[in-house]
Amino acid sequence: MKYLLLLLSLSVVIVSCSDEKSRAIPLDTAIEQQVEELLANMTLDEKIGQMTQLVIDVVGQTDVDKPQGFRVDTVKLQEIIGKYKVGSLLNAPSAGALTPEQWQEVIGTIQQFSLREIGIPCLYGLDQNHGSTYSLGGTFFPQNIGMGASFNAELVRQAAEITAYEARASNVPWTFSPTIDLGRDQRWPRLWENFGEDVYVNAAMAVAAVRGFQGDDANHVDSTHIAVTLKHFLGYGIPFTGKDRTPAYISPSDLREKYFEPYRAAIQAGALSLMVNSGSVNGVPVHSNRELLTTWLKEDLNWDGMIITDWADIDNLYNRERVAVDKKDAIRIAINAGIDMTMDPYNVNFCTLLRELVDEGLVAQSRIDDAVRRILRLKLRLGLMDKNLYEATDYQLFGSQQFDSVALRAARESMVLLKNTNNILPLRQGLKILVSGPNANSMRCLNGGWTYTWQGNNVDDLLAGHNTIYEALAARFGSRNVTMCQGVTYNESGQYYDEFEPEIDKAVEAARSVDVIVVCIGENSYTETPGNLSDLTLSANQRELVKALARTGKPIVMILNQGRPRIVADIEPLASAVINMLLPGNMGGDALAELLSGDANFSGKLPYTYPREVNSLHTYDYRMSEEVGTMTGAYNYDARISQQWPFGYGLSYTTFAYSNLRIDKSSFTADDILQVSVDVSNTGNRAGQEAVLLYSSDLIATLTPENRRLRRFEKIELQPGRTQTVSFELPAEELAYVGSDGRWRLDEGEFRITAGGQAATITCTKTKIWDTPNR
Ligand code: BGC
Repeated sequence: MKYLLLLLSLSVVIVSCSDEKSRAIPLDTAIEQQVEELLANMTLDEKIGQMTQLVIDVVGQTDVDKPQGFRVDTVKLQEIIGKYKVGSLLNAPSAGALTPEQWQEVIGTIQQFSLREIGIPCLYGLDQNHGSTYSLGGTFFPQNIGMGASFNAELVRQAAEITAYEARASNVPWTFSPTIDLGRDQRWPRLWENFGEDVYVNAAMAVAAVRGFQGDDANHVDSTHIAVTLKHFLGYGIPFTGKDRTPAYISPSDLREKYFEPYRAAIQAGALSLMVNSGSVNGVPVHSNRELLTTWLKEDLNWDGMIITDWADIDNLYNRERVAVDKKDAIRIAINAGIDMTMDPYNVNFCTLLRELVDEGLVAQSRIDDAVRRILRLKLRLGLMDKNLYEATDYQLFGSQQFDSVALRAARESMVLLKNTNNILPLRQGLKILVSGPNANSMRCLNGGWTYTWQGNNVDDLLAGHNTIYEALAARFGSRNVTMCQGVTYNESGQYYDEFEPEIDKAVEAARSVDVIVVCIGENSYTETPGNLSDLTLSANQRELVKALARTGKPIVMILNQGRPRIVADIEPLASAVINMLLPGNMGGDALAELLSGDANFSGKLPYTYPREVNSLHTYDYRMSEEVGTMTGAYNYDARISQQWPFGYGLSYTTFAYSNLRIDKSSFTADDILQVSVDVSNTGNRAGQEAVLLYSSDLIATLTPENRRLRRFEKIELQPGRTQTVSFELPAEELAYVGSDGRWRLDEGEFRITAGGQAATITCTKTKIWDTPNR
C-alpha cells in the first residue's frame, strides 16, 4: 500500500490511502478465466437466475403424515430451474431437518436438473449455526455466546471445522454463519447468536470461524470445508427498541470502529460471502445503502466476495421500510446498492422485474455482470463445477463421539461460575439433590434456536443419546440421590415464554428431603422476532419458585440457561452458587454435571455485561461520561453504572494471581509494536484454565474516551503452584479510535494498559490521523 504523507506539525501526522489496494483473497487467474468464459456464454435471463435464491419448499412436496416427509417435485423444478434458471436454494423443507442421506437425494436431484438446464450447479445454503442445524444426527456445540464465553478461539475454529464437515456430509457447501453483529443490547432476541458484546472478541472469533469453515485456501475450498456468510451486515444487533429488525441509530464513529471491525477482520481472513442486515441504520435501510455495501465492502476492502439479502428483504424495502414504491423499485434500489443475490424466497417475480429494469436501463448490464461474476466465482471456489455431489456415507465421522467430545469440551469451557459462597461447589458425592425449574429436563433449552428447527422447538423428540441436566446429574451423582420436581414448566406448544400454571408447592415439598437444590431457570428457545420481549426481568413464576425454595433453608445452586441475561437481582442473594451456562448445546448437561461434581473446572468468563436493573443497560466499554459522580454544589449529577456481574467475570475452583505487567516501551508512536507481558500464577490447589484479558484505556481523547477496551485475550492452563508468562504483541495503531470526522486517530497522551488487576501507563508521543478503512 502506498501512502501519501502530509506532515502538518511536528507531532501530528495525517495519512491518506492511495487507490492501490491489496486483495482480501488472492487472485486466482484460472478461476477468473473460467468465470469470464461462463459469463460470456450466458443470456441475461440465465444471469438473473443466478442472482435468485428461493426456499426449498418451492421445488418440493411435503407429505404431512410422514416425519421428514419431503420430496422434490420435478414439475416444480422444471418451472423454477428449467424456466427461471434459478441458481440457488436454501433452508430445510418445512417438513423438518433431513438426514445426510436424504439431503444427498434431494440435492442430487436438484444438481442433476441444474446441470441439465443451466449447465451450472446450484448453490445450496443452510444456517448451520452452532453445528448441524438442519441435518439429523449431527453435532451441536454451544451457541456463539457460549463460544465467546470460552475465550478460546481455537475451539471456535474446531467447532466450525466439524460443522463444515457435517454440512458437506449433507451435500451443503455454504452456511449462513458466523453471526458477528455484536450482542450489545441485552434485550435483543438474537444476542446469543453472537460471540458477546466485545468488538475484539467477535473479530477474533470471526477469523477463527472463517478458517474453520473454509480451511486455509479460500480459492479452493475442499470437500470437508464450506463457504461462510458473515451476517448481518451492518449494525443489526442494537435496535433502538430492543426488538428484532427494528431501526438502529449508531454514531458514524461507532459504526466504523466497532460494528464494522469483525466484518473487516473476517473479510481480510478470506470470508467468501456476506448477508445484509434486515433493518435500517440511521434511517437508511442497509439493503439500500450503496455506501456500506459497495464502497465499504467491495471497493475499500477490494473484496470480490458475494453479498446476499436476508429473508425477503427486497420486499421489505417497500413493505416495511417504505423507501421504494413497489417490488420493482425495491429491486432497482437494492441491486444498484450492491446486492448480488436475493433471498426472495418464494417468488420468481424478482427474475421478471429485474429483466425489465435492465431493459429499461434502470439497472446497468455491468452491475448484473459484476453480481454474476461474484456468484460464479463462489461456485468455482467451492469446486462445485468439478464435483457437486458427495456420498454421505464417505463422511463416517458425522455425529461421531469424536465430534461430541469436542462439543463437550466447548460446553465445559463455555459455562461461567458467577458465585460460589463458602465453596459450596463442587458438590460431593452422596448428597441428596433436588433438580428443579423449567430448564431442568430439556434438550431444547440446552440448545436454543436453530436446532433442527428454526425456533429450536420439538428438539426433544428428535435428539437421542444426549442428556438433559437432570439426566446428566442423575448419571453422575446416582439416580437414588437425584430427584426432579420442576415446579414451573414451559408450555411447549405456546410462545417461548408461555408457562403452565406453576406447581411450586410440590417442588417445595420435594426439597424438604434433600441436602441441596439445583434450580435450573432461564428461557425456552427462540430466535428472531418470535423471541422479542418486553421485560428483561426473569419470569415471575421462576423468581417465585426460587424464593419459595429458598424459604426451605436448603442451599440453592442457581443455574441460568438462557439466550440473554434475564434480570435476577432479587433472587441472586438467595443462591449460594450461580452458574450461567448460557446455551451449551447437546453436551451441556454432561458438562454441567462434570463441573458441579468437580471432575472438571470452570474457565468461562462473561462475554457480556450482566445487567442488574431494567433501566441500566450498559456495555463494559461505556463512555467514561456515562458514569458521573456527585459534584460539589447544589446539584447531584449522580449517574452510576450498575451491573449484576461485569464483562469478563468468571470464577474457578482454583485462584489465579497476576503480577509483573510490563511493556517494552514507556513511550510510543503509531508505528511501534508494543510487547506486553504479564505473569499469571495458579495460587490455588487444583489445575485450571484462565482466560487472560488485556485491556487498554485512552485517558484523554477528542471523543469522550471509553472506560476500557479489550485488545487481546489468551487462554492458558496451569497446574497448582505454576506460573506462566503470557505475552501479547500489540501494534500501537490498534489503540486508535475513529473520530467525529470519520477518520482513525491515535492521540498523543497517556494510555493505561491493564490485565488481571495489574496496570501500566505508557505515552503516545505523536498524534496520527488516517483514513484507510484497514487501519
Ligand atoms: C435470518 C438469517 C438467516 C435466514 C435464512 C433470516 O430470517 O435473519 O439469519 O440466515 O433467515 O434462514
